[in-house]
Amino acid sequence: MDNITASEVAGLGVGTLLLCATIAAPKIDAFFSSSQRSSLGMCKKCGNLRRLACSRCKGTGSVKEGGIFGINLADDLYESFGNRESKVKQIACIKCQAKGYFSCPECSKV
Ligand SMILES: [Zn+2]
Ligand SMILES: [Zn+2]
Repeated sequence: MDNITASEVAGLGVGTLLLCATIAAPKIDAFFSSSQRSSLGMCKKCGNLRRLACSRCKGTGSVKEGGIFGINLADDLYESFGNRESKVKQIACIKCQAKGYFSCPECSKV
């Protein structure tokens, strides 16, 4: 074990750190884009769009009738087969009043 010098140990440590940084990069990226937005005076929630897409209708303003959560696997299958109209009716989204979006709470707060 005498042939392992202090600098080699340090190099190994740096290598491990670099590896960790590479793995964590997407998370760091997400963190930075969020803090970047706020440092630019942009809204963290909407990025100054002043609106947020409705989570229920996914911004379309209408949901499929009958689905408990608005979406389910069977509906998606029907969609991909292209016979959605005959099977699933689209109704106006109650959550967003068929607008498909909300005004951003962060922006309208000011
Ligand atoms: Zn909606
Ligand atoms: Zn906002």
